[in-house]
Amino acid sequence: MSFLDYAPAPESRAILSLRPSYGLFVDGEFVDGNGPAFTTISPATEEGLTEIATADDADVDRAVAAARKAYDRVWSKLSGSDRGKYLFRIARLVQERARELAVAETLNNGKPIKESRDVDIPLVAAWFFYYAGWADKLDHAGLGPDPRPLGVAGQIIPWNFPLLMLAWKIAPALASGNTVVLKPAETTPLTALLFAEILQQADLPPGVVNIVTGPGATGQALVRHPDVDKIAFTGSTAVGREIARATAGTRKRLTLELGGKAANIVFDDAPIDQAIEGVVNGIFYNQGHVCCAGSRLLVQENVHDDVVERLKQRLTTLRLGDPLDKNTDIGAVNSAEQLERIRELTAAGEEEGATRWSPPCVLPDAGFWFAPTIFTGVQTSSRIAREEIFGPVLSILTFRTPQEAIAKANNTPYGLSAGIWSDKGSRVLAVADELRAGVVWTNTFNRFDPASPFGGYKESGYGREGGKQGLSAYLAPAGGIR
Ligand code: NAD
Repeated sequence: MSFLDYAPAPESRAILSLRPSYGLFVDGEFVDGNGPAFTTISPATEEGLTEIATADDADVDRAVAAARKAYDRVWSKLSGSDRGKYLFRIARLVQERARELAVAETLNNGKPIKESRDVDIPLVAAWFFYYAGWADKLDHAGLGPDPRPLGVAGQIIPWNFPLLMLAWKIAPALASGNTVVLKPAETTPLTALLFAEILQQADLPPGVVNIVTGPGATGQALVRHPDVDKIAFTGSTAVGREIARATAGTRKRLTLELGGKAANIVFDDAPIDQAIEGVVNGIFYNQGHVCCAGSRLLVQENVHDDVVERLKQRLTTLRLGDPLDKNTDIGAVNSAEQLERIRELTAAGEEEGATRWSPPCVLPDAGFWFAPTIFTGVQTSSRIAREEIFGPVLSILTFRTPQEAIAKANNTPYGLSAGIWSDKGSRVLAVADELRAGVVWTNTFNRFDPASPFGGYKESGYGREGGKQGLSAYLAPAGGIR
């Protein structure tokens, strides 16, 4: 029992009525898939939620053909302001159905309802509003006069922010005049299918967006399809590499948003309590299933003991449990497979000599759960300092000088994000300038805004999503393509 006790405050599931099964969304309709249907579950209870279709190569081909037809006949012929009207309509429908989408996301992903309700879904609407505003202003996107869409975009997304990653992909693609075939992750297809219903409500012309569910093989079919002009992928670095190989030498454009191992750097002059909140948000938000998570804490040596002590106190107040409970801070790990990976890497951390600590915490019997965990005494060479764990696990290292902090922060194959905590503005700017990371937050962490570009260096990928930079991934200068 934690020192604060709360009565249960579950969000009602009544707002969500799921069909017993969902087909693929192709050419504006739900259709059967050729592959075997599978049950999508709640990772918090392992309860089956509904049946999902699997798209095979022929289904992917059908979806690409629908997207091509919609591109040639309808979408590429509409004015920017007309495309914008559809995007505004989609944004408003997301807001209208926000509570239902939040419940579905939490059920299928395992993330706390307060996150899906207050962060994921509002950001989904914000992304569509933002790119709706761009649709008639593409001449001002910095790509020269009269930039052109690429054509059919194949988009593949992961399971950690299912609907938000869909919005990051679909909103800029449609705003810039492309049509889409999107594949959600196999463990979290639900909100993408509810989104397909929203597209029907919005009267989006058939074929402009198609959604094909299934495993990695469905994604592979999309990547290999000869009539796809662009692949946008968010997921692991290993799969990103495979996709880069498969598209090399073809005319397909490619953007990759991959993994990360971000450093969150706390200097001794930082407001420590504020930093602790940022560190907790940085690694325990969404169970640490965040590509830009602050999974390596670099603490200046003279404040290490104080920071660790306060961090432990704070972690004992986190509430782990039913993701639909409005007071829950830590929900379920998304899958048995991911739980296994977290267990394997944390065991390696202990074997390599780091000291492991978790607050007292009762894990539910059913479902996939992992207690928030910190490691102290971590060596830079340790696997838990180098590999992405993608779970609620923080590796703590120390440094003495800003130069050492920079060297350690950059000592990673990744380069997606970083955090700096310090009261001294000149130091913040000097350190930020040296960090090889796509996003650097100062005295805050995990802040997202559709106007702000996001993306990686090194093995974290290439290309930017968000802002007007996000449009350039879907546009070519006039005469540049097709
Ligand atoms: P994953 O790479 O296993 O899967 C991502 C998607 O790719 C899924 O839809 C999957 O079905 C599909 N896929 C798998 N094999 C494929 C193949 N050979 N060809 C085409 N598609 C294939 O990743 P995951 O486990 O779902 O997600 C976690 C990873 O995503 C982490 O590494 C995380 O850092 C990364 N991520 C990055 C960002 C970012 O913006 N940089 C955001 C969220 C997650």
